[in-house]
Parts: sequence; structure tokens; C-alpha cells
Amino acid sequence: MSSENCLFCKIVAGDIPAEIIYESESAIGFRDVNPQAPTHVLIIPREHIATINDLDAGHEVTVGNLYMAAKAIAADEGLADDGYRVVMNCNEAAGQTVFHIHLHLLGGRSLTWPPG
Ligand code: 5GP
Ligand code: ZN
Repeated sequence: MSSENCLFCKIVAGDIPAEIIYESESAIGFRDVNPQAPTHVLIIPREHIATINDLDAGHEVTVGNLYMAAKAIAADEGLADDGYRVVMNCNEAAGQTVFHIHLHLLGGRSLTWPPG
């Protein structure tokens, strides 16, 4: 999918509304529209990257910044001490439905392992 018709690129551009709770030069974080936990935030790069398989040399800082955002948001949401989960799905077998990479930050309840 090209960036022109990518849902998350439209959120980055402000063309589709989202409850944005984190913004940095390279990433944004917003609440998932269909939350699977009391806190469910999606953290995405501003740059369109479809899947983990599309990461190139040069994306290291972009990906690292997603985790720095997760740490900051978890602290803001009061999850740091109790714990939380950060996960990124890749392609259909893992359940990826939006092809612009995103970390799911989930917390506020006990999370089972392994995931389904
Ligand atoms: P995936 O299944 O690709 O790992 O995760 C995509 C996530 O995006 C899902 O959890 C889904 O609920 C969320 N989502 C899909 N469309 C929208 C939207 O328009 N706004 C927001 N905030 N979340 C969305
Ligand atoms: Zn995109």
C-alpha cells in the first residue's frame, strides 16, 4: 500500500482525527480506536514504512524512537511500575491490518502469555 492511501499517514497529516497523546520529530502516539486494554496506544513513525520487512539500514533511529516514545507514554499513563506490553505485528499471520508499522502499547490489566 502506498503512503497516499495509508490510514496512519492520514492521521500523521491530520486528515483523519485521532486522540494524539504523544508527538516527537519522528513519531506520534494516539489511542487505539478499538482498545484491547485500559491503555492501548499506537506509536507510529511519521515516515511511511509498511511492515518490519520493509525496514532498511538507516531506520535504526526511527525504530529506536518508537521505543523511547513507548517508555515515555507508559510513564505518563502510570504503567511503568506495574508493567505493560509493547508489540508490533508483521503481516497477516500475526494479525497486522494496517500496513504502516506501529507499536501497540497495552497496559492497565494483567496480560496473558503467550498471546493468541
Ligand atoms: P494491527 O492489527 O495492524 O497490528 O493494528 C491496527 C490497529 O489499528 C488496531 O488495533 C485497530 O483497532 C487500530 N485502528 C484501525 N483503524 C483506526 C483508526 O482509524 N483510528 C485509530 N485510533 N485506531 C485504528
Ligand atoms: Zn503510512
